[in-house]
Amino acid sequence: MRTSAPEEFDDLRDALRALCAGFPAAYHRQHGADETYPEAFIQALTEAGWLGAMIPETYGGSGLGLTEASIVMEEINRAGGNAGHCHGQMYNMGTLLRHGSEEQKARYLPRIASGELRLQSMAVTEPTTGTDTTKLKTTAVRKGDRYVVNGQKVWISRVQHSDLMILLARTTPLSEVKRKSDGLSVFLVELDQAIGQGMEVKPIPNMVGHETNEIFFDELEIPAESLIGEEGKGFRYILDGLNAERTLIAAECIGDGYWFIDKAVSYAGERVVFGRPIGQNQGIQFPLAQAYTQVEAANLMRFEACRRYDAHRECGAQANMAKMLAADASWQAGNACLQTLGGFGFAQEYDVERKFRETRLYQVAPISTNLILSYLAEHVLGLPRSF
Ligand SMILES: Cc1cc2nc3c(=O)[nH]c(=O)nc-3n(C[C@H](O)[C@H](O)[C@H](O)COP(=O)(O)OP(=O)(O)OC[C@H]3O[C@@H](n4cnc5c(N)ncnc54)[C@H](O)[C@@H]3O)c2cc1C
Repeated sequence: MRTSAPEEFDDLRDALRALCAGFPAAYHRQHGADETYPEAFIQALTEAGWLGAMIPETYGGSGLGLTEASIVMEEINRAGGNAGHCHGQMYNMGTLLRHGSEEQKARYLPRIASGELRLQSMAVTEPTTGTDTTKLKTTAVRKGDRYVVNGQKVWISRVQHSDLMILLARTTPLSEVKRKSDGLSVFLVELDQAIGQGMEVKPIPNMVGHETNEIFFDELEIPAESLIGEEGKGFRYILDGLNAERTLIAAECIGDGYWFIDKAVSYAGERVVFGRPIGQNQGIQFPLAQAYTQVEAANLMRFEACRRYDAHRECGAQANMAKMLAADASWQAGNACLQTLGGFGFAQEYDVERKFRETRLYQVAPISTNLILSYLAEHVLGLPRSF
């Protein structure tokens, strides 16, 4: 299928396609059905260096831009996999890279780049406060050379397949800060020192077979050196990482969108009903042509977000628009694909129902569509704030 992707990355795509070909649809289907982690696939991506793509070469990574990193994520999904199992390793390190001390970076980044350490988890969301992040209730209180953490998180992904976790907690009570975004801090938690020692992890069975968990903190003690950057500035640090996260997830949705269209086009060309291929009917063609148009349009916005990010220009609007357009486009492509396959679309062996569920997540996480619209309305269009 022809796409609007720039051609200069064809070699990169070929390398990813060769790796992904070693993990055919049946592999991903089995992990999806069993709700197990595709460890061998993630290990192969790690060993090939793809998940350390954005770590600078001085710390042992590949030093590639967001453009290349986004192509890695896109190709995983386009090949029938689900980059949601590993995308945290690509972007969570950004908080450490941008705001960590030299000592923290030298200690962790080379081992994250090699895959010896996995930093796949970021714990922000809480059950009682949800999207209203600055109201979160988990606290970290300094006591001598430690912080003592109490509280609860929900939907924290890949904890069982991580060595390190970024934690956002309140270090100064909301009532004592000038702005509600002040007084939150970011910590790098070594999970083997935490789980069972004040931190409990409870898996959440879910619709997408995603390894995600509730986390409970009860007097968890972490060393004071776990603090990243300055105490009280953590909310800003988390926001700094969101543009990369949103753009990478947009690329995953685009990979899904092309996967759905490929699948539907090939099925529509072969399936004969009423004596002709169903793809000859405009009722089948037009939803696919429409979905293709939407995916292509989202793709242009994704590359624009990447271009600006890699040029160190402001890209909040483009990253958010790319994420929303791509999530909508992949959902539209998924619907058109499912409709094209008719009853067979519901059978696990065609993989459509699994991809359909997986891509639906991106209307909600890591940020819901309403919150993107709210960001665009208030921060880009300058409309009055609603909250
Ligand atoms: C599979 C999965 C994996 C996840 N992984 C992680 C993770 O690794 N780390 C992490 O920290 N979080 C994670 N999340 C959490 C995710 O980021 C949140 O679910 C998401 O941000 C929405 O928050 P919420 O679920 O609390 O919804 P709520 O904040 O309760 O919102 C519910 C609905 O109301 C809408 N809404 C709320 N306020 C407004 C408003 N003012 N105007 C209009 N609409 C509004 C929202 O758009 C949403 O549709 C994950 C979630 C899922 C499902």
